Amino acid sequence: MSTASSTASRPKIAIILLNGAPRLHDNPLWLLRSPRRLGIPTATHALPLFCLDPRRYDLEMMYTGKEGADGPKTRWFGFPKCGKWRSKFIIESVQDIRTSLKSLGSDLCLVPGRIETVVPQLVESCRSNHPTGADVVGVWISKEISSEELVVERKLAQNLSALFPSVPLFAEWTSTVFPSEFTFSHSNAWPASSAVNPVSNLFGGSTFLQLPDVFNQFRKLVESRAGEPPEPYQRPASVPPLPDWLTLEGIGPENKGIGKPGHDDVSKFGHIPSSLLEVPTHESSAFPFRGGESSALGRLNHYISSGLITTYKQTRNGLLGEAFSTKFSPWLADGSLSARKIWHQVRQHENTHLESEGSAWILFELLWREFFKFHAVKYGDGIFRIGGVHAGTYKETFAKAWKRSVKSGWDMFSVVNADSRWALPNNEAFKSWADGRTGIPWVDAGMRELKETGFLSNRSRQNVASFFLQSVPTISSSQSANGQVAPNWLPAAELFESLLIDHDPHSNYGNWQYLAGVGTDPRGWRKFNMMKQAAEYDARAEWVSTWVTELAGIKKSLEERGGTTEQFHKPWTVNGGRAVDEVGYPRPIAVEREWSHVRFPEVKLGERRSALVANSPSLRQDESSLEERPRDGFGRARSARSNQKRRVDAPWNGGR
Ligand SMILES: Cc1cc2nc3c(=O)[nH]c(=O)nc-3n(C[C@H](O)[C@H](O)[C@H](O)COP(=O)(O)OP(=O)(O)OC[C@H]3O[C@@H](n4cnc5c(N)ncnc54)[C@H](O)[C@@H]3O)c2cc1C
Repeated sequence: MSTASSTASRPKIAIILLNGAPRLHDNPLWLLRSPRRLGIPTATHALPLFCLDPRRYDLEMMYTGKEGADGPKTRWFGFPKCGKWRSKFIIESVQDIRTSLKSLGSDLCLVPGRIETVVPQLVESCRSNHPTGADVVGVWISKEISSEELVVERKLAQNLSALFPSVPLFAEWTSTVFPSEFTFSHSNAWPASSAVNPVSNLFGGSTFLQLPDVFNQFRKLVESRAGEPPEPYQRPASVPPLPDWLTLEGIGPENKGIGKPGHDDVSKFGHIPSSLLEVPTHESSAFPFRGGESSALGRLNHYISSGLITTYKQTRNGLLGEAFSTKFSPWLADGSLSARKIWHQVRQHENTHLESEGSAWILFELLWREFFKFHAVKYGDGIFRIGGVHAGTYKETFAKAWKRSVKSGWDMFSVVNADSRWALPNNEAFKSWADGRTGIPWVDAGMRELKETGFLSNRSRQNVASFFLQSVPTISSSQSANGQVAPNWLPAAELFESLLIDHDPHSNYGNWQYLAGVGTDPRGWRKFNMMKQAAEYDARAEWVSTWVTELAGIKKSLEERGGTTEQFHKPWTVNGGRAVDEVGYPRPIAVEREWSHVRFPEVKLGERRSALVANSPSLRQDESSLEERPRDGFGRARSARSNQKRRVDAPWNGGR
């Protein structure tokens, strides 16, 4: 047999890294595309892969359920980088995609280890362990945006080209509704010229430099120029067989799970750690769902078919239960749900039913997500800068010495460094806020819910952030030697990064910069009145009493005495403060003068809902039946735009 024919008959393997998009639906990775000049690679085998990268996940926690001392930490303040709830969610996602792949006769290769190390090791294993030798025709990955991930991507490209120059790396854009200029890119040659209708082109240039910095301008451009996004990619009907001669022996330095007992399924392609899967979800969690594509698509279908989609605009500021908002964010964040798929299904619903304000509003909110993603493409690490995208780096803003002196965990502020140019934020106040012990139930309920479930409604995120930034300046301000005060939102954003089940760097840091007045908000700082918000969104104090449970006795005695929800939201006023002292709930760390001007609805605690609705404008609106808007002569797009315009022009009641 000639060498040429033996090469032709050798197995050809495609490695598909699913870390950025662990899903079958709307996933271009399954197409195994390549630039035309490289020809179409024909793969006889495919190796779907997920790496549990120890820089991103606490493997100790994943495998044992206990936080590891050496687990990865957030950049400046040393919080665990990926908390328990997100870790659990990721494992569920991995478990789900493995099950789906198995139903297609394939499997998921799960390897703990650094991506740029593991992938070349797998290439070697694929090639050398086959009796007649095998070729790897390429490695396909999701295109990343932010620096931590980009570093990994570049190292992978470098390692592959150094060790296996014939194995190309292909990056596909998988994270937004609209395509970007990175829609398809190859190896180090990013951005590629073969982009299809990229968003960047909408702004009059071929790069993101022209992307507007203000959301409203971005939205108008997308609406007027982008047209409808492309259809989602088809779910693959089949996946090429696995290279079953592959062995994982010795692959990945952090290869803790392989070959060890105590994992839920035994597979030669890597065992799924099961400890966290047994951790029960909090009974009051607003996100009682499992990770993974199957539950994501189930939720999407349910949200649309049950009609929740039509009432979204009325319910989206809710706080309790799973129905008030879509809850798509955790699946969007880990890539198991495609934003374009949501967009498409919402449009399909609008085509078969009448368009509702709710459906238009969901698309509007998805555009916020798009905006923060493209904003991050434009400004890179600027989204992590304390002074905003145009300011100096954190290192430049704060003394380098601070970083060296910062300890991990809650003690981080207790190290006062004499060399520091900036006074350190108030440790005690930060701890009170983070632990949900500020003495203001409306704030504490949010921080406790976040910690105990990993999820928090948008309404509460806005409020706890505003309180952090504006009501207790000693928490968030850092004072320079010349007396200049900067809102130090970074520790809070890093805490969110640690705890959120749906953490997405672009939305998290983008929203924090926005609220801190150093981001994309043309109006600058927005201040929420905590009591106005409590009166409006928790008029029956149901949400607060769900999470601040030590106030149950105070609630009961107020109910018996005909007390009001206003008193419950201000428990420090009950019995001159003795009531909170008795139950060990703290006195408030701050009380703003404007809180006393808020008129709460005249609601007695425990009062029936009908009486309450009559007294509360916000609840009246929530309970009103939503009229579906008939299609008008201007068609759907015009109608959706007019809804959105109304929202943007309306007074924002202290923020989004
Ligand atoms: C301080 C702060 C931090 C945040 N951190 C994150 C984060 O790490 N990850 C994250 O996905 N969202 C973040 N958000 C945005 C928003 O709070 C969540 O997307 C939303 O609460 C998720 O719930 P949902 O899916 O039910 O949202 P819905 O109200 O149902 O909205 C539908 C989708 O629209 C998008 N969306 C809605 N609001 C926003 C927004 N303000 N910014 C960007 N996208 C939005 C999300 O993808 C969401 O899933 C943050 C907001 C604030 C104020």
